[in-house]
Amino acid sequence: LLVLVWYIRKVSKINHLHATTDELTQISNRRQILHDLHCLIRAASKAHQPLCVAMLDIDYFKRINDHCGHLIGDLVLIEVARVALNSLRPNDLIGRLGGEEFLLVMPNTTLAQASVLCESVRTALHDITFKDLEREKLFVSGSFGVATLIAENEKSETLIHRADMALYYAKQNGRDQISCKN
Ligand code: GH3
Ligand code: MG
Ligand code: MG
Repeated sequence: LLVLVWYIRKVSKINHLHATTDELTQISNRRQILHDLHCLIRAASKAHQPLCVAMLDIDYFKRINDHCGHLIGDLVLIEVARVALNSLRPNDLIGRLGGEEFLLVMPNTTLAQASVLCESVRTALHDITFKDLEREKLFVSGSFGVATLIAENEKSETLIHRADMALYYAKQNGRDQISCKN
């Protein structure tokens, strides 16, 4: 019976990991990061603390796939997740929303602090290098759209929408930059 209980616990742990983790990058998947964001918005509202999110989108990622192949593209995604995670503070969260888009959640952080933090992630991404099919060295860059909670218990959808608007501006304005315009 003990072995059976041990086995059931092990299987349910594995199931939970699969349901919450992005298979490629091993960071939170879309479902998990959105769940965490929902909980952190409630906690921030209760404690009257600021909270920021940032959408990070890799620049010209399609070109990386086209010039280097999907396998290298996958490796770039893994590296971006690792580098971004390493640049964040212990209480910050990161998840892969899908494709080459990531969501950063920064609890108890003002817009000014979030910009500084995203700037450090942005520069850290420049350290990722890889080679194309002609062995030319290539670099990675990302654009960031940052948004802050504007009302207590604001819906995560509207917060993300404003980050998305800011991201759009960062892309339009030349990429490899952070925008807080929303
Ligand atoms: P922009 O600078 O405007 O963001 O351009 P972009 O090329 O990064 O954006 P676009 O949306 O045109 O292309 C995203 C590409 O990401 C297209 C898709 O094939 C690729 N992609 C999505 N998921 C994966 C994945 O898991 N692995 C790989 N290798 N590629 C992926
Ligand atoms: Mg994209
Ligand atoms: Mg992109």
